[in-house]
Amino acid sequence: MSDEVKVVLSEKDIPTAWYNIQADLPEPLPPPINPATKEPIGPEALAPIFPMALIQQEVSQEKWIDIPGEVIDIYRLWRPSPLYRARNLEKALDTPAEIYYKWEGVSPAGSHKPNTAIAQAYYNKAEGVKRLSTETGAGQWGSALSLATCLFGLECTVYMVRVSYDQKPYRKSMMHTWGAEVFPSPTDRTNAGRAVLAKDPDCLGSLGIAISEAVEDAATREDTKYSLGSVLNHVLLHQTVVGLEAKKQFEAIGKYPDVLIGCAGGGSNFAGFAFPFLADALTKGKKMTVTAVEPTACPTMTKGPKRYDFGDTAMTTPLLMMHTLGHTFIPPGIHAGGLRYHGMAPLVSHLIDLGFIEPVAYHQNPVFEAVIKFARTEGFILAPETAHAVKATIDAALEAKKAGQKRVIVFNNSGHGHFDLGSYDAYLAKQLEDFELPQSTIDEALKEVPVV
Ligand SMILES: *Cc1c(COP(=O)(O)O)cnc(C)c1O
Repeated sequence: MSDEVKVVLSEKDIPTAWYNIQADLPEPLPPPINPATKEPIGPEALAPIFPMALIQQEVSQEKWIDIPGEVIDIYRLWRPSPLYRARNLEKALDTPAEIYYKWEGVSPAGSHKPNTAIAQAYYNKAEGVKRLSTETGAGQWGSALSLATCLFGLECTVYMVRVSYDQKPYRKSMMHTWGAEVFPSPTDRTNAGRAVLAKDPDCLGSLGIAISEAVEDAATREDTKYSLGSVLNHVLLHQTVVGLEAKKQFEAIGKYPDVLIGCAGGGSNFAGFAFPFLADALTKGKKMTVTAVEPTACPTMTKGPKRYDFGDTAMTTPLLMMHTLGHTFIPPGIHAGGLRYHGMAPLVSHLIDLGFIEPVAYHQNPVFEAVIKFARTEGFILAPETAHAVKATIDAALEAKKAGQKRVIVFNNSGHGHFDLGSYDAYLAKQLEDFELPQSTIDEALKEVPVV
């Protein structure tokens, strides 16, 4: 009964509805506001860049939102994803804790990101959109959206942060394989990009800049909408297939996790995994520890205050209430661990404030040390982002050992690292530097955050 290594569901166990945590919040989420008027925005403000179905999901208070059949049909290519028990890691740590992970690396793009990319492409296609524009950092989101647009017969244009475009050529190859066009951002194709290049022709780019370019592209073309891979409510909603499946898998083995862990860049894989469990904390008072992990080089949750801020550098988005390092933040070039966005999903930020989520930050060397221990016990080579969750998991398992407690720990294994081996090489060659973003840099960037 309980000596399984992986818990596998069948295709008929793929969830048929996404879970919307907004229905269960003890206090409603502060709404997005218009930067000029400081009033809450209406749906019409988002209509030039998003299809109406997604705008409705963004503000929906319905607890369950049906997943369209055509989306489920594509989910069937890799869903349900397996839940593993990390028995070899448990043994290596000599811990009484049980360690599990939900493995999202089985998707064609290698991460959780297609869970929302497929849904977004579907709704855009249904509303007659011909082309999607987006940004990508390391390339995981760009490749996921390229896959999704390819399967639905849409065109796709990706603005890829320049430093990744140069350093991670194979993700670009994936996007090209799925038929997308890819430009290194900042580009000279948009006003936002040209403005940055005028100040700094060698700019390495940032997610904030690439978002500005992709939004401008969509806003200025009739046939095009914009697609975002994290942060927004509808993105987190689509990712709840992960947690809903994981809950069923724990049910199947008669267990319930005590500790849930995910890495958080914009917050989508963490939220999609944790929210269906947090539903039990919100509605039934169930006790659990839910940890969101970030790098000390981009400490959005642990050091960024919760403020209304722009989602992008050029200040074109509505203001979102979120933990932020300021929309002008550009992450240090020496950081190899991903998770570089300046903000955090409003829903995750809200639940941190309400005390349901505990954020922690780790330096990149201990993070890589942990993920290499994982590779040498469990075999899988994970994304540097995911590595943050592994570090927190190992710490939780060692804490359980110290306390002599048989805790059940689970982390969301958000993707593989087969295109991130340069970071592994750098770690193994002892070339990674730990970097703590100085408070003075944060204070400086926060001066640019609008006063509301
Ligand atoms: C994009 C990505 C993340 C970070 O994004 P979130 O929106 O915070 O989930 C984490 N892990 C992997 C593998 C990713 O591709």
